[in-house]
Formats: sequence, C-alpha cells, structure tokens
Amino acid sequence: MRLIFLGGLGEVGKNIAALEYGNDIIVVDCGIGFPTNEMLGVDMVLPDITYLAERKDKIRAIFITHGHEDHIGSLPYLLPQLDAPIYATRLAIGLISVKLKEHKLLDNAKLNVVEAGSAPIKAGAFAVEFFHIVHSIPDSCGLGIHTPVGTIVHTGDFKFDLTPTDGWRADFGQIAHLGNEGVLALLSECVHVETEGTTPSEQEVKATFDRLFRKAEGRVIIATFGSLIARVQIALDLAYKHGRKVAVLGRSMENNVAMAVEMGYLQVPEDTLIKISEARDLALNKVVVVITGSQGEPSSVLTRIANQENRFINVIPGDTIIVSSTPIPGNEVAIIRVINSLLEQGADVYYSQVARVHVSGHASQEELKMMISLTRPHYIVPIHGERRHMVAYAKMAAEMGIKAENIFICGNGSVLEFTADSATAAEPVRAGALFVDGGSISNIGDVVLRDRQNLSRDGVMTIAVSIDSETGELAGEPDIVSRGFVEPETSDDLLNRVREVVRNTVKLEREAAQVGDWPQLNRRIKEAVSQFLFVQTKRRPMLLPMIVEV
Ligand SMILES: [Zn+2]
Ligand SMILES: [Zn+2]
Repeated sequence: MRLIFLGGLGEVGKNIAALEYGNDIIVVDCGIGFPTNEMLGVDMVLPDITYLAERKDKIRAIFITHGHEDHIGSLPYLLPQLDAPIYATRLAIGLISVKLKEHKLLDNAKLNVVEAGSAPIKAGAFAVEFFHIVHSIPDSCGLGIHTPVGTIVHTGDFKFDLTPTDGWRADFGQIAHLGNEGVLALLSECVHVETEGTTPSEQEVKATFDRLFRKAEGRVIIATFGSLIARVQIALDLAYKHGRKVAVLGRSMENNVAMAVEMGYLQVPEDTLIKISEARDLALNKVVVVITGSQGEPSSVLTRIANQENRFINVIPGDTIIVSSTPIPGNEVAIIRVINSLLEQGADVYYSQVARVHVSGHASQEELKMMISLTRPHYIVPIHGERRHMVAYAKMAAEMGIKAENIFICGNGSVLEFTADSATAAEPVRAGALFVDGGSISNIGDVVLRDRQNLSRDGVMTIAVSIDSETGELAGEPDIVSRGFVEPETSDDLLNRVREVVRNTVKLEREAAQVGDWPQLNRRIKEAVSQFLFVQTKRRPMLLPMIVEV
C-alpha cells in the first residue's frame, strides 16, 4: 500500500494526499495554497497532480475532511483531471457545490454527503469512515481509512475544544475505537505544535466579546474569516443578549452565513439578523456588523473601511472594531496598517495582541499528544505544517515513546510504502506547484517570478534603437522609456547619458565589424547600460533593448 503526499507538507496550504493499493487510488483533500509575498501577481497556488492525472482510471473517490480553502480550493481546477466521486460532510459539500457551479462543473460532479460517525464508505480496496472533530469551520472530520494492510488515521485539521460554540465535541469514542482496533499509521496535522498546553476554547472568545459588547457605546464591528461560522454565532448570541441586531457585509461572509443558516449550522435568535441597509435606521448602539478582512486583504471590507472606501460603513468615533483573527504569516504588515488607520479615525480597536478576540482552530501540544494516545499508532507522519512544525511534532512524539524510526518526516512528492508490519520511504513522485495567474492556470516558472520581483524593485527600461541595416549606424536617436525606475522629472540627464552609452556601444560594435549580428548588439547594449545604471543608481532595472532595422 502506497501513501503519496502531493501537497501540504513543508508548507501550510494545498493539502492533498493519495493512497494507492493495486488498481485503486483514493485521494484525501484537494486544497489551494496561498502565494507568498515573492509570488507577485500570482493569485493562487495549486498542487501539481500529474501523478494522479496519469492514473486517472484508478481513482475511486476523493474524500474531503472539511470545507476550508486549503482542503477544497483546488477542486474546481483539478476535478476534471481526477474525475471521481467526492465524499464530504454536508457543509463541505455545500461549499464545494458553490465553487463547482461557478466553474460550470456542478452538473457532472458526483457529490456525496457523509455524516460523521456513519458506516465506512467503500472505495476500491479502501473503506473510509469520518469521525467528527472540532475546528474553525463546522462539520469538520478526521478519517479512519481501512486499507488491506491496516488502518490509517488522518486527523484533518482539528482541536479538542470541549465547549465549542455549537456544542458538538470531537467523537472521542470513535477515535478511541479506531485505536483499540489497531492503527497502522497516524497522519496528524501539526501546524500549532509550537504552542504548549491546549488551544483555548471558543468560549473564551465569547467571554471577551461579551465584555466588549457591554462596554461598547457605539456600533460593534467584527472582522473575521468568511468561513468562521462559530464567530458569527457568538456575534448573534451576544447581539441578542445585549439588544443589538447583526448585519453581515462582504461577499464571502454573506454567502457563507446564508448557507450556514439555510443548512442549520447557524442558529439565529429571533429577528437578530438584518440587512446592512436596515442597520442604518437603527441607533448606533443597537448595531453589530460582521465583516470580512481580518487579514488586511486589499479588497476586503475592513481594509476598505480603513481607507474610507466602503459604500456602507465609515468609521464613526466611538465604534468598537474587533479584528478577530491572527494574521497569517506574511499579512502582519497589512493588518497593522489597517488597525492604525482605524485608530486614527477614532475607532476603539481590539485585536489579538491586546485581547483574546481569537483562538486558533488547531490543536496545541497536549491535544496532539491526546490524539496519539487515543489512536496508539505504529507509525506517525506529521502533515499540514511547515518543516519546523513537522520537526517539532516529531520531537514531541519521540518524547511520548514513539520510536524515532517509526516517525516519518515527509515532503511533497514523498511516498511511503506500507505492509502490515513495515513502512519504508520509496522513490518520490512528481509534486510541485501550479500558479493561478489572473484566472488561468499557468506554468509560469521561476524566471517569470524573478522578473516580477525585479520589476517591482527596480522598474523597467525599454531602449528602442533603429539601425541602418547596411552600415550598422544609428538611424536616429535611441528611444528610451522607463517605468518604476527614476522620477521622470529628474531623469532627463540620466536618460541622455544612457543614450550616449547606447550610441557608443553601437559605434564600438560597428568598428569591431559586427554589423548584422543584432542579438549580439542587443546583448552588448544591455550589458553596457546595465553597468552604467548600476554605477549611477545602484539599481538594476529590467532592460529591454529592441533593435529595429531600417
Ligand atoms: Zn482547516
Ligand atoms: Zn488546513
């Protein structure tokens, strides 16, 4: 039995794994990754699933642990290559349907709703059971995957909040039952392993919100993730308690709340949910607005409010604004800028550094240990984490007495081969990233990204040179245009001197009797100008010489 990791290891994002036995393959999750700061102009990152696409006929099913983007986001792009039925809980299926519909894939998709705790689903040589766990989106599950060589437990993303907002605790019984029957390998998420103890309950957020609601004299505005239904539930409950009404704003938030209400994941106290237009008619101290943008994303509602660009909401001094999240690494600067701007405009702003307005959706150390204790696996593979998380997890597991040789730190492309009593690392397979760039999937490689980095740092300069094809002499002044490099007003002198460099280069080449070798002339101009500009400005704009024969 082969276990193949195609994404989500050594990174947080684009989770996807596959299990292969004989003629059967099943896939677990199919997520997107988020571009890092260096990936300029890239909107999303998809896993490279060449391995699966080449074995499409063997794929029996896709099992989805929960409805977060890093677990379902690639489906609209990759489902046509996988072409297999999808199994997930009701909310995840709802979220997947919305995506597939947008991409006109819904009609041909085979979607199956699974209830946590129900009988295992057969898929070729495998049978998969879903067990409920707590996470930052409702109806999240881990998987018990029964294979011909033993049971693999995949934790999904989890924590063991004993007082979750919806009261639906993890199914310890089912997890322990898997452990009692024998677990060959545990694939455990590990992204929050650096935190000691247990992850605080969502109830602690509720307690903080309660205190802030009581204190607030104006509106309460809560910014959080569009999928964090539990946070919306808290807002609704407390609004009801404090005599306020709740409006939601932001496309993903509005869609998710509508879906969660319709599917029964969100309990709305009587008349508590109103339209944003209705909120305007209420006294400020009767209003709660739940919005998107807790990461400082440029187009989000919170950022637009901070920039005074939102149609519905401007900061009114006395507003209480709660930024209910922790920044995903890379977003810190953006969110801090937003917070400062809101404070400047007179809002009272609460964020994770000053109040417990957010708790993680992921297990801390003691919960991760608890999962190991319940499942008592023979082998352990940390997944869903950066290298540092996987290494810290491996150390933690070793401290619990798991033999070092039974803990595997894998990467994308890693393959583990299992028998009933052994596990070995096998030859890795192709894995990597595809970029979604302005709506289309492309193979833009490192070169393109490096160019974009250079462009963003040093700008660009085009140098159009017309040359007499007979004599090799300049047929006019070199035409130079630059963007993002030097201020146009101050650049006249510099550009004149660049023209001079170009003239000299053309002359030297002609004297060296290189007339007609335009690629070489192109290169020479580039070198000469680049060197000149670097000496003058210490910068290296991207240079694009164009030689026109006349
Ligand atoms: Zn998640
Ligand atoms: Zn995740």
